[in-house]
Amino acid sequence: MDYLPIFLNVKKQLCLVVGGGEIAKRKAGVLLDAGAHVRVVAPEIDPALAKMPHVESIVARFEAHHLDGVTLIIAATNDRDVNILVSRIARERNIPVNVVDDPELCSFIMPAILDRSPLMVAFSSGGASPVLTRMMRGKLETIIPQNYSRLAAFAERFREQVKLRVSSPAKRRIFWENALDGVVAEKVLTGDERSAEAMLQQMLASEDNIVRGEVYLVGAGPGDPDLLTFRALRLMQKADVVVYDNLVSKPIVEMTRRDAERIFVGKKRADHTLRQEEINELLVRLAKQGKRVLRLKGGDPFIFGRGGEEIETLAAEGIPFQVVPGITAASGVASYAGIPLTHRDYAQSCMFVTGHLKDGTMNLDWDALARPKQTVVVYMGLHGLDTLCSELVKHGMPESTPIAIVQQGTTQNQRVVTGTLATLPGIAAIEKLQAPTLIIIGGVVKLREKLQWFHPQPS
Ligand code: SAH
Repeated sequence: MDYLPIFLNVKKQLCLVVGGGEIAKRKAGVLLDAGAHVRVVAPEIDPALAKMPHVESIVARFEAHHLDGVTLIIAATNDRDVNILVSRIARERNIPVNVVDDPELCSFIMPAILDRSPLMVAFSSGGASPVLTRMMRGKLETIIPQNYSRLAAFAERFREQVKLRVSSPAKRRIFWENALDGVVAEKVLTGDERSAEAMLQQMLASEDNIVRGEVYLVGAGPGDPDLLTFRALRLMQKADVVVYDNLVSKPIVEMTRRDAERIFVGKKRADHTLRQEEINELLVRLAKQGKRVLRLKGGDPFIFGRGGEEIETLAAEGIPFQVVPGITAASGVASYAGIPLTHRDYAQSCMFVTGHLKDGTMNLDWDALARPKQTVVVYMGLHGLDTLCSELVKHGMPESTPIAIVQQGTTQNQRVVTGTLATLPGIAAIEKLQAPTLIIIGGVVKLREKLQWFHPQPS
């Protein structure tokens, strides 16, 4: 950060503008908008500027004594020597100075602003690219409606009352976020402030309404952040606490709100950092503190994600929750690897199974899996790969059936290893694959040779 962004109170403070032309007039206008009194010094002063209320004009060349009693200075002359002189004296006297379009002479720079007073957004590229800054402002201009001014003024009107009623700063923040991000805000924005006020008072009336914690059980997809849903993203930026595990990729965790607390609950094979019951309890505890808790899970929460168990506990405790589906590994990974899960010629159905070993064995319906014309997708199957292939062959699947293992599908580290039921265990053993890996079995795997060039690349 090259500059410290601050908002300065200049109400009734004397500010100096050196220069009397068009730019000086504009700068004086901004100062006057902020409530300042403005002294303008120049040999010639635009009459419109001289006539503005709260403007004291001095028709003269700049001299050091013009700085007396001044809080802030803007130099907007086209004479660099004058600008240098103003800058030097201002710095000697420790008065903040801005010289228009001359960053070297400035002790502060003026941002581009988006004014929805009392809401104010300031932009700066630190002088690197004023055009980029203006473009950014243009974009925000379209997404922050004019009547946000009204919303900010509404919030200001109730600020003291809410502060008295809700003394904890954390709870107060949640209260305001709920009010300004929900129906209350909608009412204000459409101009119905009476209803908005009634709703706000209702929220304040009971402790339960002030802060209601909730849990968002959100599927984060298989890894590529581009595969998040809009809803996932919106809730990720709203939550106060994020509870996540290994399967959620780092770039995705980093897209959660910057100041949110992030809790890692682990879960690698046989190395459960927190047991499932402990995770369930953690979610309940956090929600009861009034927090908006994001339980972020890889893929889809309801596919081998134990999401069902987590919400069962929440439901039993009466904690509000919502579930946001995600792209499950099977569909994300298959498309990035160029393998269609069904195909008229090769597979009319597709099965998702878990290859998780329990006491060293895989408890699966082998006869059903070995049937022809279907695709079998195995989650958590790498460690049982030998058993998987040999059991399928034993139950009648041809040894030549194509099979693929996809490592870290949809991410930069995606790797696809293919073979047949007979050869793949041997190939996988020397490939040193890294978790997570997904196994896809069936005729569709062959299509990869034709289709892999057309599938989306990890971004
Ligand atoms: N709920 C998740 C699955 C959790 S089980 C979902 O819907 O995708 C964990 C298993 O998912 C891993 O062992 C692996 O088999 C699979 N998996 C998840 N993400 C993956 C990825 N990016 N690449 C390959 N496999 C993945």
